[in-house]
Amino acid sequence: MKANSEISHQQSKSVGPTSVDYDVAVIGAGPYGLSAAAHLKAKGLSACVFGEPMEFWSQKMPAGMLLRSPRVASSLSDPDRAFTLEAYENASKKEPCAPVPLDTFVEYGRWFRHQLGSDLDQRTVQRVDRDAPGFRLKLQDGQELRTKVVVVAAGIGPFRKKPEVFRNLSPQQVTHCYEGRDVRRFAGKRVAVIGAGQSALESAALLNESNAEVEVIARQPQVRWIGQHTWLHHMGPISSALYSSHDVGPIGISRLVAYPKLTRLVPLSLRDKIRTRAVRPAGSRWLPDRLKTVKITTGRFVSEAHAVGDEIELKLDDGAERRFDHVLLGTGYQIDVTRYEFLPQQLTKDIRQFGGYPKLASGFRSSVPGLHFIGAPAARTFGPLLYFVAGTEFASRELTSCLSRR
Ligand SMILES: Cc1cc2nc3c(=O)[nH]c(=O)nc-3n(C[C@H](O)[C@H](O)[C@H](O)COP(=O)(O)OP(=O)(O)OC[C@H]3O[C@@H](n4cnc5c(N)ncnc54)[C@H](O)[C@@H]3O)c2cc1C
Repeated sequence: MKANSEISHQQSKSVGPTSVDYDVAVIGAGPYGLSAAAHLKAKGLSACVFGEPMEFWSQKMPAGMLLRSPRVASSLSDPDRAFTLEAYENASKKEPCAPVPLDTFVEYGRWFRHQLGSDLDQRTVQRVDRDAPGFRLKLQDGQELRTKVVVVAAGIGPFRKKPEVFRNLSPQQVTHCYEGRDVRRFAGKRVAVIGAGQSALESAALLNESNAEVEVIARQPQVRWIGQHTWLHHMGPISSALYSSHDVGPIGISRLVAYPKLTRLVPLSLRDKIRTRAVRPAGSRWLPDRLKTVKITTGRFVSEAHAVGDEIELKLDDGAERRFDHVLLGTGYQIDVTRYEFLPQQLTKDIRQFGGYPKLASGFRSSVPGLHFIGAPAARTFGPLLYFVAGTEFASRELTSCLSRR
């Protein structure tokens, strides 16, 4: 028994080759995994969540970050709605804050996990194999467990996009916005931030405040800011008709994407348009002021990148050249479930996909019986709400209702 495992495997029900340890194994203890486990446990299913709670948020997001989602859309989900962000603030006597600081959200996620007392095993899952009547999981220390159902709630970590032009730079010279926490290490350095989405722009602000010399370089002709028409959100019932409280997507679309079951019925080509429009690159309304002194070059892309000694030389498409000490990529991510290292090819070849996203049926079922995906990989089926914490409520209820019928 490993010290970092919080559950006792002596309680497991494994007695023979076809018996199982759990009804459901949830891979990933982020907002989706923790919420799903809360709902599954409440229905009496034996479920275990694997992974370090809130690891992606505590280890990969930049320190000092603020949540882009509004407070009402930043709670994890439990069946009685008893463990909301607000309940955490009350219990820990914290002043409610908007926007929500990253550290508060991480502490809230950990508190949520403790309130629920869900079974949690902090070990990572190394491999999932089919093993009738369910699956066999191999954990990081080699221990094997059996489960009837696997729910993949492993987030977007492996899907970071690294444009080809930066391939020749070393991992010390080029990093992704989601792979380092402390931007203060760049104090006094020249840093190019590539992209104009929330993570690129917020990282640029944090770097600037840490005394780095920053330039944002983005393809789009101008930087877009979210919430430019705040008055539209302050018209009482009219605003409620135009925007859902989740605040995912623009006017009108926001209402549709709040109903993932309905979104799923929209033809794929239109659903894709809605999805990409709802999450197009843009910065939160509190960023423009923080970026006033940052150089932002729009309508340009990097055509060449070379290491020159300790420096990096970037050539832009207009021929301009710049020297930097580091390149930070805010270039987003591209879902491709075959890149989850714990899913072997024998399994992924049977997952019906559309462009890296699994094709899912109701209950988040993939084409491999017993294998479910929640969170961002479900966004092409159920729409962009599934990219955000706000989607945990729908995902957990839908998944639990499907599995409790099994
Ligand atoms: C910079 C940035 C800012 C964001 N801001 C917001 C925001 O303000 N509001 C919002 O709603 N969303 C935001 N998002 C989106 C956010 O990623 C999702 O909302 C949220 O994290 C989804 O939760 P999840 O549980 O699916 O994934 P994660 O939070 O990524 O959790 C998945 C977990 O699975 C674990 N895991 C992976 N593989 C294994 C394995 N083999 N074994 C065990 N564990 C494993 C990982 O360690 C990780 O902790 C932001 C994303 C980024 C990158």
